[in-house]
Amino acid sequence: MVKQTIQIFARVKPTVRKQQQGIYSIDEDEKLTPSLEIILPRDLADGFVNNKRESYRFKFQRIFDQDAKQETIFENIAKPVAESVLAGYNGTIFAYGQTGSGKTFTITGGAERYSDRGIIPRTLSYIFEQLQKDSSKIYTTHISYLEIYNECGYDLLDPRHEASSLEDLPKVTVLEDPDQNIHLKNLSLHQATTEEEALNLLFLGDTNRMIAETPMNQASTRSHCIFTIHLSSKEPGSATVRHAKLHLVDLAGSERVAKTGVGGQLLTEAKYINLSLHYLEQVIIALSEKHRSHIPYRNSMMTSVLRDSLGGNCMTTMIATLSLEKRNIDESISTCRFAQRVALIKNEAVLNEEIDPKLMIIRLQKEIQELKDELAIVTGEQRTEALTEAELLQLEKLITSFLEDQDPENKLEVGADMRKIHHCFHYLKKLLHDKKIHRQSTAPSENKDQNCQEPLKEEEYKKLRDILQQRDNEINILVNMLKKEKKKAQDALHLSSMDRSELRLCQSSPFPPGNPDGPKTLPLSAPTQALDSSTSPYRSSLLHRKTGMREEMSLGRQEAFEIFKRDHADSVTIEDNKQILKQRFSEAKALGESINEARSKIGRLKEEITQRHVQQVALGISENIPVPSVPDQLEEKLRSQLEEEKRRYKMMFARLKALKVEIEHLQLLMDKAKVKLQKEFEAWWAEEATSLQVNLPAVTASNHMKPFPQMSEAQHERSQPLSNKSDVYARKILPSPGPLLRSQGQSSPATPVEDSIPERPVSSVPLTGDSQTDSDILAFIKARQNILQRTGFQ
Ligand code: ADP
Ligand code: MG
Repeated sequence: MVKQTIQIFARVKPTVRKQQQGIYSIDEDEKLTPSLEIILPRDLADGFVNNKRESYRFKFQRIFDQDAKQETIFENIAKPVAESVLAGYNGTIFAYGQTGSGKTFTITGGAERYSDRGIIPRTLSYIFEQLQKDSSKIYTTHISYLEIYNECGYDLLDPRHEASSLEDLPKVTVLEDPDQNIHLKNLSLHQATTEEEALNLLFLGDTNRMIAETPMNQASTRSHCIFTIHLSSKEPGSATVRHAKLHLVDLAGSERVAKTGVGGQLLTEAKYINLSLHYLEQVIIALSEKHRSHIPYRNSMMTSVLRDSLGGNCMTTMIATLSLEKRNIDESISTCRFAQRVALIKNEAVLNEEIDPKLMIIRLQKEIQELKDELAIVTGEQRTEALTEAELLQLEKLITSFLEDQDPENKLEVGADMRKIHHCFHYLKKLLHDKKIHRQSTAPSENKDQNCQEPLKEEEYKKLRDILQQRDNEINILVNMLKKEKKKAQDALHLSSMDRSELRLCQSSPFPPGNPDGPKTLPLSAPTQALDSSTSPYRSSLLHRKTGMREEMSLGRQEAFEIFKRDHADSVTIEDNKQILKQRFSEAKALGESINEARSKIGRLKEEITQRHVQQVALGISENIPVPSVPDQLEEKLRSQLEEEKRRYKMMFARLKALKVEIEHLQLLMDKAKVKLQKEFEAWWAEEATSLQVNLPAVTASNHMKPFPQMSEAQHERSQPLSNKSDVYARKILPSPGPLLRSQGQSSPATPVEDSIPERPVSSVPLTGDSQTDSDILAFIKARQNILQRTGFQ
């Protein structure tokens, strides 16, 4: 923070006539503060001024006499201010003095010679020169130019060049925010990147000012002009921006109306011609007096705009311009008195810094990128948001080899990359999950490669035994169901004609019945397709979507479910609803088409009516007949058709709406019924499984066939082609698992598992005699065998 009183300077304008000497003297003793003495000429002292004093002495920072060059003025007055603005402080230079004392000459300059350039062009030149020199910061410069006349603000940088009077310029108003900051609405800010651009703006403003001036408004004497350079600076990469403003102010003429009393006596009070200068003085008086809490800035636009410059955050300088001619003595004294007061005002200039959030984001983004780059250098790999396909593949390979490696010391090394570590965990989880599902649902496909593996541990035996039991139950439930199916089919055979029966058989199996060269293996779903060909993928997927259950079912259960569904009472309801839904859909479709037709018909009718109408009017005009009072019949007909069509349209639309409601309702009902069906199936399945567990040993006991000798794969395959005869039951079913047998008290819990299981009596499955069905059963049996082989039972 820089605390400073407003600096005051005096500049004396060169006088035309040389005889004015002796009116003033300048005392510039180096040790003392320079002072200006104004000496009253004898004739004035006698007649005009009624006190006895003959001279007045005023102190200034510096006094520039008549011969002071513009260059000197700039160097001594403006340059220090410009420097503090470049450093980030606000600055103001204002010229105060009576009309013709040289304010404009000092601030803007003379129009004739280049050397007469005033403070504004020289400051611009200096600032841009400094900006160019300083590469440590990034600068932005904007220019605004405001004229205040009669308490109204005008934007002098209006680029339209259309102003012929001040009133044509955009009006600027003062706004104050809750923090008492002043904002100038409508004052345009123009960026200037070079001195030339800035000078062009000064020229534009001065031209506008000149054009707008008329002898009537005497703008140049009665208005204030504020040329402002807005400078922003920031260091590269920094988000902190410094803002500084430099106001270069050419005030209105300070002349007052001297009130003379009776007898030509000068009264103590002389009034400003310019009201806002009066308010400026009020502000200055208030500021110069101690303990004044209220400063009347708001009284005028000018004091509002210059609020910071007067007793605020600014380094302010005043130039008192004096035209020390005999006739101007009183005004010159007033100017100097004013300056003395101003010199008492203390300002506190602070650096105006703020953090630009946009720049902050950019800076942080840059920092992140740099860190990423650094990381890339350290790790030797470039990281993006997500892992690439190649990286994912590589990781999965690593995981696979890690899992396959028997060495317990083996480590999974993916480097210090959280993305990779996370992916490893996800992948491992997925593998674990897949394996679980795989074990539950695809036990039949357990491959024989497992045979050569070491015997599994106790708990794995238990798990496998459980799965085995589940499969046994599934097989038995399926076999029972298939038997029923077979019976049904046979009954149907008796009832229907031979031809139809053959046709159906051909459809259900690609192989003719009894063909000894029939399939060695068949797809598991083939019997289901034959039994329930109506199962559509749409329905199953819909059900799955609603229940989330189907996908978890083993294939055996799925088959059973399809049959269960077909025989369930609710399936009739579902089917019925499906049919109704179909009907409603097609009805809605047809209705939609009719509605579209009606709509276009309405459009056509409207068009026809308009045309007819136009024709009638045209006819009337061409034949000079007034519009007939009797309505046109054709038009009437078209209109009634239109009405009828509209009615139809409305009716159909209402029906369609109702249909939509119905369709949605039906869909909901169906979904509900499907969920219910699924639940009932689950219950039935569980029940069936339990009853099998109870009954199976009895069955196995009654069919106690000798265990088949162990079959090789080839032998097993050879045994698969089955005859069509239903009495071929001689198929080996391997022992039921331990828990089942233990529940029957046939096995001592103490008996080692390895020894006890293979000794159990086999359970046989009576085959159906249908080659396709039997093959499926055998597929289950084969899978079961595989499990047993894995467990080392065989
Ligand atoms: P103000 O703006 O205070 O009314 P001006 O700046 O217009 O006064 O000055 C009035 C006249 O005096 C102008 O013609 C101007 O060129 C001239 N003038 C003012 N100061 C000087 C100076 N220091 N040297 C030469 N001519 C000057
Ligand atoms: Mg002027």
